[in-house]
Amino acid sequence: MSQRGRRTQEWDVRASTLARNTHNLIRSIVENLTVEPNPSKPFIALSVGDPTTFGNLNPPEQVLQAVRESIELHTSRGYGPAKGHQEAREAVAEYSAHQGNVTAEDVILCSGCSHAIELVISVLADSGQNILVPRPGFMIYKTLAEGLGIVIKYYKLLPDKQWMVDLDDLENQIDDDTAAIIVINPSNPCGSVYNKEHLNDILDIASRNRVPIIADEIYEHFVFSGNEFTAISSLSKDVPVLTCSGLTKRFLVPGWRLGWIIIHDRHNILGKEVRNGLANLATRILGPSTLIQRALPAILKYTPQSFFDEVVLFIENQAKMAFEELRRAPGLRPIMPQGAMYMMIEIKISLFPEFKNDLQFVERMVSEQSVFCLPGRCFEYPNFMRIVLTVPEDILREACQRLVIFCKEHIDIGEKCKEIDNNIIPVTNETEFICDN
Ligand SMILES: *Cc1c(COP(=O)(O)O)cnc(C)c1O
Repeated sequence: MSQRGRRTQEWDVRASTLARNTHNLIRSIVENLTVEPNPSKPFIALSVGDPTTFGNLNPPEQVLQAVRESIELHTSRGYGPAKGHQEAREAVAEYSAHQGNVTAEDVILCSGCSHAIELVISVLADSGQNILVPRPGFMIYKTLAEGLGIVIKYYKLLPDKQWMVDLDDLENQIDDDTAAIIVINPSNPCGSVYNKEHLNDILDIASRNRVPIIADEIYEHFVFSGNEFTAISSLSKDVPVLTCSGLTKRFLVPGWRLGWIIIHDRHNILGKEVRNGLANLATRILGPSTLIQRALPAILKYTPQSFFDEVVLFIENQAKMAFEELRRAPGLRPIMPQGAMYMMIEIKISLFPEFKNDLQFVERMVSEQSVFCLPGRCFEYPNFMRIVLTVPEDILREACQRLVIFCKEHIDIGEKCKEIDNNIIPVTNETEFICDN
């Protein structure tokens, strides 16, 4: 006989609150696009933040060889400890020495950086508490937090100051329920790289208000010439920092799902409870892929610096090229990134009276020019769009040139710019200014 009185004779199977409250804004916007590309032009997606999509960027031979060797080991097939194999955690600790004093005890291996992010959010915040997230910023924070009842509060980044944090706004957002400040450096989607001084300003705010920092440094070292990457943990005097990173972007292997958390807690503020909490949470998936864990020491040790240098140089050149091309697009303002693999572009939407917002703009770009850029609304940041810089050079150039044509065809700002539209007068800094305003 059933003990459960509320059972009836009818089937009534419902999705949980967690499932119903979990949304991925990018997926839902991209999947709901109804427009078809122009059949006379090959479709170019500048929207996917996966450097492997076009096959032009590949991991070095040493990385592939490490996994080939791992597959032969019988120890790469069984379960590992939930936090990861000792040798793999030691290798990550050594690789992460630039972050400060790191030992294997401070490392927890995860199934990708997004899993690392899920664990650090879950260990610091309860339902009803909030975390502070940069806007524009990577949207997985919202996806992960909302289902758990954790509130997202945004702090502003300043597009006119190379996306630096609006420090007053950041401090104003902190309240009694703030569990953590998220810092994404270098940034997706902005491509900004913060210098030491700015990171120290952020740390001061965290320290004054006694809020720990979650540092998303999946793009660590991914910086263009003239910029320097500094791990925020290396500057922290007292603020506990949980750093999330992994193989995904730097080693060009997003599908391998290997990320990690590094606990920086010099003054033992987080204490045993948070450390044990992370270890407990790690047991929820019994640890990440042991095939990749066994390859990890060789991957981290034998990947030559020249591989990283070449990838970053390629992306930097792509950024310069796209910036130069897009400067010719009236009504657009590309913002030159300092690192990572993206560029944000402002759409001066009032100059395009046919379009009400960035979504309509990018949709028409698809139907006329077969180029898809991610609309700013995917980052809850209207009237911008994001392009990825990892696509092959000729494809990126072609896409930018189509963007320029599109803008010239749709901009509406009086006679002077009509002349530019028709290439009667060349675009110079001066005419660009007129057409920008
Ligand atoms: C890509 C990305 C991640 C997620 O990485 P995975 O290892 O694929 O989970 C996390 N944070 C930022 C800022 C990213 O761009």
